[in-house]
Amino acid sequence: MAATRERSLILVKHDGVQRGLVGEVIRRFENRGFKLIGLKYVQATRAQLESHYEDHKGKDFFEPLLAYGSSGPAVAMVWEGHGIITAGRAILGATDPIKAQPGTIRGDYATAAGRNLVHGSDSEKAAKREVDLWFKAEELLTWHRAGAQHLHDKY
Ligand code: GDP
Ligand code: MG
Repeated sequence: MAATRERSLILVKHDGVQRGLVGEVIRRFENRGFKLIGLKYVQATRAQLESHYEDHKGKDFFEPLLAYGSSGPAVAMVWEGHGIITAGRAILGATDPIKAQPGTIRGDYATAAGRNLVHGSDSEKAAKREVDLWFKAEELLTWHRAGAQHLHDKY
């Protein structure tokens, strides 16, 4: 069976980097069985964040989101696997960390929407746009994760 190409753009945002949670975020996705196909430290520009968060333009938190997000490094990742978009959002937890379930990244480590640590694509369309915004095609690797047939019945 052909490997699934479902992908999600996951960011450890600047607060997540400052909190030392990069490894924790990777661990949760890796342990769940997803495959990391792109990873880098990035200093996001305001323009990049403006494009990334274009759906939120005009909202009161938009400007602080750009200002804080561009104030230091983030870690951008592309994870691949069957169900990654839905599962990725579940691993992150609710946008408002106060409402996020314990066991999620936001529910375990955050209390404020403006410092909710992580980003995850919310649809296939968004994932495509976001992956293209943060990564060049040649920065994404094609590789076979050993044991994939024991993790997924679609692989
Ligand atoms: P996400 O997809 O769960 O990250 O949430 P959204 O797409 O709705 O919002 C994008 C980001 O904007 C969130 O992750 C938050 O960092 C921020 N944000 C959203 N809603 C609020 C809010 O009500 N207050 C503040 N301060 N930030 C918010
Ligand atoms: Mg969103």
